[in-house]
Amino acid sequence: MTAHLLDGKALAADLRAQVAARAAALPYRPGLAVVLVGDNPASAVYVRNKDRAAQQAGLNVQTIRLPAGTLQAALLTLIGRLNTDHDVDGILVQLPLPPHIDTRAILEAVDPAKDVDGFHPINVGRLAEGSAILAPCTPRGVMKLLAAAGVSLDGARALVLGRSAIVGRPVANLLLAANATVTIAHSHTRDLPAECRRAQVLVAAVGRPEMVTGDWLADGAIVIDVGINRLPDGRLVGDCNTASCAERAAAITPVPGGAGPMTIACLLENTVLAAVARRKEGRGSAPGPR
Ligand code: NDP
Repeated sequence: MTAHLLDGKALAADLRAQVAARAAALPYRPGLAVVLVGDNPASAVYVRNKDRAAQQAGLNVQTIRLPAGTLQAALLTLIGRLNTDHDVDGILVQLPLPPHIDTRAILEAVDPAKDVDGFHPINVGRLAEGSAILAPCTPRGVMKLLAAAGVSLDGARALVLGRSAIVGRPVANLLLAANATVTIAHSHTRDLPAECRRAQVLVAAVGRPEMVTGDWLADGAIVIDVGINRLPDGRLVGDCNTASCAERAAAITPVPGGAGPMTIACLLENTVLAAVARRKEGRGSAPGPR
């Protein structure tokens, strides 16, 4: 079997266009505030990309860049201000934060209704009970890729490789909400290849370059490779060895160009969802000039 490659770039472009159309049809411009503390080069690139994508989708985006030495109290004050700013529908604090700042305290300070990253414990809890409006962006992207693959998740055996709060656990909860039979594997799992071989759907989020090889897969598996790993020679690879996995899988995401591009598109979608939900509750400002 030679797998169908799931084109995350094209799917993300479609989703961004849908979000832009939905935003344009609203009587207000959904607002997104992106907060970057410090000068981590990778974070600076991510924030620039988010800012540009949000502008292109017609969102009202403000990017707030703060120096690395910003005190936690000052960051909390800023978040408090964004929480009460009626024109701000979504707040994203770019991680990682500098080590002197307590990340948990900052994420918990964001109004859950504006938590477009889906990291606030209230949104994590809602996701676990199957009632989330704002689920984390990368896991939402995984679900959209699975939908694009045409896989029926109802009753399917799914294996999530990795149990981080950002990817593995929320992906598992979303799969469960879609009625898949979910196994979560991690570094203590015994006989990982055998666990993988039982899966009809495999989502890899381990951060280990090309760890999953074709002989770990069931014939016809659908594979979503979330991993992004840079090799010493500069190449970017996923957690799966794409060439050998493509021999066994029915569909697989490439790296780059698979799960990665979906994350920002889902952030834009979350911002519009947050705007619509908040304003339905009467929490936004009155419709005005766009
Ligand atoms: P973490 O390091 O937070 O979590 C990795 C998980 O993999 C842990 O649960 C760990 O198990 C498990 N693990 C590590 N090594 C092994 C092993 N040898 N066997 C089995 N399980 C193992 O990573 P993230 O979830 O944040 O990220 C995972 C990957 O996804 C990375 O490559 C990252 O770059 C990428 N990523 C991509 C995004 C995107 O596309 N936009 C967004 C976020 C991440 P344990 O819990 O037992 O330690």
